[in-house]
Amino acid sequence: DAVVELESVTRSYPGGVTALESVDLTVRRGELTAITGPSGSGKSTLLNLIGTLDLPTSGHVRIDGHDVARLTDRQLSALRARSIGFVFQHFHLAAGQTALDNVADGLLYTGVGLGQRRERAARALERVGLADRTGHRPHELSGGQKQRVAIARAVVGEPALLLADEPTGALDSVSGKAVMELLHELNGAGTTILVITHDQEIADGLRRQVAMLDGRVRYDSAAQEAMAC
Ligand code: ADP
Ligand code: ADP
Repeated sequence: DAVVELESVTRSYPGGVTALESVDLTVRRGELTAITGPSGSGKSTLLNLIGTLDLPTSGHVRIDGHDVARLTDRQLSALRARSIGFVFQHFHLAAGQTALDNVADGLLYTGVGLGQRRERAARALERVGLADRTGHRPHELSGGQKQRVAIARAVVGEPALLLADEPTGALDSVSGKAVMELLHELNGAGTTILVITHDQEIADGLRRQVAMLDGRVRYDSAAQEAMAC
């Protein structure tokens, strides 16, 4: 049961850079996967394609069974709102809003009313261990807490897929560990998760590792296992 399927995906940028070249990648429901690789190897381009924020130059991207190229912009927005949560290195929280309203914003494009959004946001904050911080604004929270708010916002709509781009990159190692533990918990509860990381120790803690180099998949631990069988 594949959540993500990339088939011979190439992404070239105007000016001649080929950021991804003939990438094949399948992610099954329930996987927790690290994407590693040096700067410029294509990790962000890969995550943007999987997040349907970008389209391939050639090849196919299927998310939750939908061929992304066949969807209208409106259908793509609906697919993102329903199925995909995003977490970034620098949190991207709204500075003037409380933790509760930041998380409630994760349901903005789902048609859920404000009361329901706030109720579900309160539950999501509880889930990430911040039930006592609902009224705090980002500047009143530590880095680790801000990232947990951002994770609550990403999962409040219960997406099938969570995409995290260097989620521990701006955190000290203790908060970083707590964030990774939280991602493990969410994965245990059924969310499929892809994490970009520069941190080999973090990557080693995840069940599957995909290493990128020069726009190609250089190593995939799942492929190694398949060959060993
Ligand atoms: P990573 O996330 O691993 O650092 P990226 O996916 O950001 O890699 O970049 C892969 C390659 O594509 C790099 O050579 C980068 O300079 C290039 N690139 C990324 N985004 C763009 C863009 N919008 N326009 C042109 N080139 C880009
Ligand atoms: P965590 O381990 O979750 O990142 P910390 O141990 O760093 O949390 O933070 C401890 C407490 O200090 C938190 O309850 C938080 O509210 C408070 N705190 C941390 N950073 C700031 C800040 N920049 N401004 C105000 N309060 C802060």
